[in-house]
Amino acid sequence: MDGGTRGRAAGEPRATLARRNRPSERTKPGRGAVTTTTRRTFRFVNWTLRPDQDDDAPPLMYGFRCLALTDDDTGCAAKSSLSKDPTEPQTWAFAHRREHPEHTSYAEVIERPWVMWREGST
Ligand SMILES: [Zn+2]
Repeated sequence: MDGGTRGRAAGEPRATLARRNRPSERTKPGRGAVTTTTRRTFRFVNWTLRPDQDDDAPPLMYGFRCLALTDDDTGCAAKSSLSKDPTEPQTWAFAHRREHPEHTSYAEVIERPWVMWREGST
C-alpha cells in the first residue's frame, strides 16, 4: 500500500552525484503538502515529468482565492481550503463575499499531481 515500486525503481543515480535525495518520492497528498522541488538531469539519466494519472495518483484538488484589493491596495489573499469537490470552494467564495461584500473577484486554483520518471534505468 505504498504505491508499489514506483519510487523504489528509480533508485539513485549511479554516477558520483549520488546523494540521498530520492527524486521520484513525493509526499503524501494533503492540504498544501505538495512542495515544489527542482530536479536536475543527471549525466546518463533522463528524467521525465508528466501529469500523474496512475490509479494511486493523488486527486485533482480545487480551491478558490480572493483577488480583491483592500483599501490600502494590498491583496486580500483569503483562500479556501483545497477540495476534491470543485463546488466546495465555490461555496467558500459566496461565504467570503457575504463577509466582505466588495470582494467579488476570485481565481480558481487547481492542483494537478505530476510525477517524475527516470528513463533508461537498468
Ligand atoms: Zn477577500
